[in-house]
Amino acid sequence: MTAKAETISLIGAGLNGPLLALGLVQRGFRVEIYERRPDMRRVRMSAGRSINLAISTRGIHALTEAGLWSEMRNIILPMKGRMMHSVASELTFQPYGKDEAEVINSISRAELNIELMNAAEQHGVKIHFQQRCTSIDMRAGMLALRDERTGEDRTSEASVVIGCDGSASAIRGEMLRMSRFNFSQQYLDYGYKELTIPAGPDGKHVLETNALHIWPRGNYMLIALPNVDGTFACILFLPFEGPDSFAELTTHSAVVEFFQSRFPDAIPLMPDLTDNFFANPTGAMVTIKCAPWHVKGRALLLGDAAHAIVPFFGQGINCGFEDCTCLLELIDRHGADWEFVFSEFQKARKINTDAIADLAVENFVEMRDRVADPRFLFRKKVELALEAKYPELFVPKYAMVTFHRIPYATALKRGQVQDRMLAELCGPIERVEDLDWNKADRLIRSELTPLDLVS
Ligand code: FAD
Repeated sequence: MTAKAETISLIGAGLNGPLLALGLVQRGFRVEIYERRPDMRRVRMSAGRSINLAISTRGIHALTEAGLWSEMRNIILPMKGRMMHSVASELTFQPYGKDEAEVINSISRAELNIELMNAAEQHGVKIHFQQRCTSIDMRAGMLALRDERTGEDRTSEASVVIGCDGSASAIRGEMLRMSRFNFSQQYLDYGYKELTIPAGPDGKHVLETNALHIWPRGNYMLIALPNVDGTFACILFLPFEGPDSFAELTTHSAVVEFFQSRFPDAIPLMPDLTDNFFANPTGAMVTIKCAPWHVKGRALLLGDAAHAIVPFFGQGINCGFEDCTCLLELIDRHGADWEFVFSEFQKARKINTDAIADLAVENFVEMRDRVADPRFLFRKKVELALEAKYPELFVPKYAMVTFHRIPYATALKRGQVQDRMLAELCGPIERVEDLDWNKADRLIRSELTPLDLVS
């Protein structure tokens, strides 16, 4: 058997599974995917934890490499910035990037998933639906699978297994039983609830289409992302317990009163608010870090299975797709030397996925609270002015993460240095025109080296 005739078994046909599978078949491998859910193209079901995703540069790069991005252009909506809604229903728009090319893209999770599964199957990937992986015998190279329709258990040979089975990964569960496996999980005290703003009577969006809408309220927030069908997918983030929490919203009248007083311009746009609120589950958000991600050349974790992060930087799937890019590049360079490739993959990615996990937690405070602060908005203007003058030296943290493929660990480190500089430069002034450019020049040239900008 040649290396390429080997079958690679992937667990999970969520977002990373089919994209990785496609890359593997494009390189001549045979790939089978085992997915516990029914085929969403045939059965109407909830697409999963978040109904919309923001795709940015890292995700776009991976989709372009797979030959899929240009086709996806008609199922995405660019979002040029944040539209903040105050309690007094005033709107403030803050662009995400330095120009119109720096946008993030709203896409329905279900549509993205379907596109990926279609493309993978068209290239010869076999997806086995309603097949739950219950365990893996890494030494014998056997997967234990349960047919979710019949409850029947069976085993299947699997010499190389990649766990793309999300934050509650069964493959990681097996690794947890092995000695010297490091694992940490940190839940936020916040939950989230999916809600909807329907399209207007003409089928059009009832809010600005090309923006991510935020109702920042200090300790909590509501956000809305546009869909191509004229609707908005909304997510309410609230503490589980305490004041202004999910624990307080137990009746229809409590939900209506809460929205009327906190999000007065949103409630008239949400005719099905209470039905949605009580029909949809309250999700939890967790950061998972673990190591090692692989067991010899036999099993590997990728995507949320290896590193689940909270959603506040909009990077979970962008980071997962960047995992796929990295793994496929290593395979191109080293072939099917799985033990070496898996170990190099972890070396390249772990430091970066740890960094984006920390950046994502940090960004929660920015989104729910600081975006409403005039000093924060002023700092953003100063950042853009510095970037315009020093494009290779000073790139705002948000842009490093979202509009470039600068390693996340570099973005974290430089972001901390830049935060200190901004505090020093913005402290005494109120207007960008009053910026002390000599001081800015000295700080930037002494503390920042030129970036290798890959976008
Ligand atoms: P999943 O998408 O979770 O897929 C795992 C698949 O494995 C599923 O289909 C599941 O059914 C299957 N599976 C699980 N266990 C088994 C088993 N034992 N056997 C067989 N199959 C199994 N990311 C962004 O980049 N941008 C965003 O804007 C964004 N917004 C988000 C908003 C919210 C509220 C949340 C919670 C997440 C958000 N994310 C976002 C993160 C993103 O959703 C995840 O990073 C992404 O879904 C991870 O993909 P995955 O393929 O690794 O896992």
